[in-house]
Amino acid sequence: MERRLAERILPDLKKKRPLEEIYKRYNKDKNISFFQFEEDLCNTFHLDKDYYETGVASNKPRIYTMALDEDFLRKRSEEVDPSKITKEEITSLETYCKKEDVFALASVQIGILKRIVYLKNTQLETSSKEHDEHQILINPTILKAEGLTKYWEACASCLDYTSLVKRPYRIQIAYQDLSGKRKKKIFEGFAATVLAHELDHLDGILPMDKALEIRWMNKEERISFRAIHGYQILKKTGNYKE
Ligand SMILES: [Zn+2]
Repeated sequence: MERRLAERILPDLKKKRPLEEIYKRYNKDKNISFFQFEEDLCNTFHLDKDYYETGVASNKPRIYTMALDEDFLRKRSEEVDPSKITKEEITSLETYCKKEDVFALASVQIGILKRIVYLKNTQLETSSKEHDEHQILINPTILKAEGLTKYWEACASCLDYTSLVKRPYRIQIAYQDLSGKRKKKIFEGFAATVLAHELDHLDGILPMDKALEIRWMNKEERISFRAIHGYQILKKTGNYKE
C-alpha cells in the first residue's frame, strides 16, 4: 500500500473503525475486492485481523505496532529483577524472533514493559532467517558510545517507515543475564546499530523520532534501496553525541 493511502487510513484504524467501513471509504472508485484490500491492509499495518475485530490475538505473541499501539510503545520500560522474568516472556521473545525476519526485538514490542532486549542477528552479512544468536540483555545501560554511523533502519513496530538514523560505531554496555549476573560487553559496527535501536525502544523512542530522513518502503523495496544505500561508517572513534 502506498504511503499516502496508508497515512490516510491510519487514523481510522486507531479509532478501530470496521474494516468494511474503511474499505468503502477508501475504495469508492477502485477495482479492488474487499478481500484484496483487507489483505493489503493487514500486510501494510502488520494487523492481526482477529485481534482488530475481537480484541483477541490469533498470533501469539502479538507484535505491537504504531498502527494500534503507539501509546504503549511510547512508554518507558521498567528495570526488572531477572528472577522475576517468566519463562513465558522469554518464550514469547524467542517465538517471535524465530518466525520473523528481524535483527532484534525489545520486549515492549510484544507487550512486555520490561527492560529486556533480544538480539537475534547483529551481523549485516548474515541474512539467513534461521540464524539466531539468542543474546538476552536485561537492564542494559550504555557506559560508553563512540564513533558515528548511518543506516536506513526498519522496525517491526513501525510499518513501512524506513528511517535514516545516526548511531554510534561502538557501544559499551553493562547488563544482566537471565541468571542475574552482571556483565559488560562491547558492540561494534552494525551490532552497535542494532543494539542502539533496541535501547531506544526501552525508553519509548522510535527510529522516526531521530531520523535524518524518512521513506516509506515495503520489504522488497527496502532490500533494493539498501543495496545502494547501505550501512555507512563515518567515524570509528571520538565521543558519540546524540
Ligand atoms: Zn524497532
